[in-house]
Amino acid sequence: MATILDGKLVRDAILASLKPRIERLTAERRPPGLAVVMVGSNPASEIYVRNKVKACAELGIAGEKHLPLDTVTTEELLFLVEALNRRPDIDGILIQLPLPEHIDQQQVLASIDPSKDVDGFHPCSVGDLVANRPGFRACTPAGVMRLLEYYGIPIAGKDAVVVGRSDIVGKPMAFLLLHAHATVTICHSKTANLAEQCRRADILIAAMGRPAFLTADFIKPGAVVVDVGINRLRTPEQVDRVFPGDPQRLAELEEKGSVIVGDVHPEAFSQASFYTPVPGGVGPLTIAMLMSNTVDSAERRLGIRGSS
Ligand code: NDP
Repeated sequence: MATILDGKLVRDAILASLKPRIERLTAERRPPGLAVVMVGSNPASEIYVRNKVKACAELGIAGEKHLPLDTVTTEELLFLVEALNRRPDIDGILIQLPLPEHIDQQQVLASIDPSKDVDGFHPCSVGDLVANRPGFRACTPAGVMRLLEYYGIPIAGKDAVVVGRSDIVGKPMAFLLLHAHATVTICHSKTANLAEQCRRADILIAAMGRPAFLTADFIKPGAVVVDVGINRLRTPEQVDRVFPGDPQRLAELEEKGSVIVGDVHPEAFSQASFYTPVPGGVGPLTIAMLMSNTVDSAERRLGIRGSS
């Protein structure tokens, strides 16, 4: 039977290991500081930002929100980032993506002081990742690595297939697996014979944003399957297609307005040796790794060596 890779368990372990480090920083100097910048109103982003600031408060990190209106210009946003770069009490700056169309996203991300780039999207952090030098790693893929490590899943010499090549998940994920000595294939929307590529995977990472797309015939029996996808089914027809004749899911749709499903079809997990559920797999780790990057940054900037 397939074993669940429990993201909440690993998240709790990560957060527990951060607590004494935050206490030491606070006692000896000051709490770590994280600034989260969200432009305009986007319901999904609002939930993410709220959860990030809440996680800070629970841990003793000084989290603050900056909420420019969506009429803000690139220049004004650069000015805000510059001010945060200069503040000694801020160790991490996070720009919640996506930014509105009229903002030059690349320019804004590149304006963050690389020593405060806790999201790992600055070109310097990307360069560090590619060259396997120390630096900030993008939170979601870094969380996946911690999950695999926690469960003692061997990576070296394995065939890993990453479906998705975004800058925030697919590409950094592929590099992290490569540096852990997997043989890595990156697939995307133009990949020919996706099922055949996926079936070669000892470790399959789904990061496509396509609900329940990867069915059992994409999965090698015994593979480790990590489902990064978070997709919302919003109609009874969509729910019935993925969860046929499941009154509980229909009730969930009625109650919450949507049902969350990953990129892997729920029935396909039975083929795996280990798999991440959605929700409760990769999701909880992203914020934990953001907290971890912020604490690392504070320790580095204050010259205090961490306890882990
Ligand atoms: P993007 O939309 O930026 O990238 C999706 C990638 O999947 C692209 O590279 C795209 O290929 C590829 N893709 C799309 N359709 C197919 C297809 N039919 N066959 C093969 N490849 C395909 O998404 P993100 O990387 O930002 O996110 C991916 C998923 O992960 C989403 O569901 C998102 O919600 C979730 N997510 C979850 C997080 C978490 O904390 N658990 C954090 C971040 C994201 P191409 O490049 O050719 O277009």
